[in-house]
Amino acid sequence: MAASKQTLQAQVEELQAACPVLLPCMSPTGYQDEDLLRLVASEGTANQKALEDLLTVAGSRCSSCCVCASPGQPSVAAVAENDEATTLRFTTFPRLNFSTMSLHVSKGGFACGQCRAVSDSWRLLRFAAIKLGPRHPEREELMRRLCSHFASLNRVDDALLADSDNVVAWVQEVFSRAYALQVVACNLKGWTVLGPDAKPVRHSCPGTSVALAKALLHSSGTAPTGKKRCVTG
Ligand SMILES: [Zn+2]
Ligand SMILES: [Zn+2]
Repeated sequence: MAASKQTLQAQVEELQAACPVLLPCMSPTGYQDEDLLRLVASEGTANQKALEDLLTVAGSRCSSCCVCASPGQPSVAAVAENDEATTLRFTTFPRLNFSTMSLHVSKGGFACGQCRAVSDSWRLLRFAAIKLGPRHPEREELMRRLCSHFASLNRVDDALLADSDNVVAWVQEVFSRAYALQVVACNLKGWTVLGPDAKPVRHSCPGTSVALAKALLHSSGTAPTGKKRCVTG
């Protein structure tokens, strides 16, 4: 079974239609985490400092998740083991396109722990695979909470949302399909990362991460120079 890039792209679009607000990340390894704070490390300390300053200022104007609008506290510090769900971290949401072999980083902003957790298909699937049951009641509860967060974000219909088991089954189907596409993406070479302007991003080129963060913050309305559009209170 050899699927063409067009067939694969049709599958991506089907998932995009099912998950119009937040889609599981399907980026191939190496592009998986467009974590700017990590990528900027190769651009030298001056750029690292510039990105931190930019995000600190942008974060200070933000008090809610850019995806689900839950209130939280922005942080630009390194991800902690016991990170709170309400900690808002700058996150990018790249869109995979098999037809053009590109990852379009057109959306980014400060996202809460739940939204960050459910955008990672591998982590969520592995988590869902843990045998749910009386031995791990706290895991089961967290799993159900993440699944219903993901489903209600994407506005699935009320009939499905009303039944927690159906929600989990729907989420597992979505994430299994996303993960399968991610595996295929990993085996293809020649991906190009595109910035918000749809031009190729050249990582490790000094200044790239700062410019990308600026463009993303600008388009989300949280740029230090832009108009504040974050929900407060
Ligand atoms: Zn990602
Ligand atoms: Zn959120």
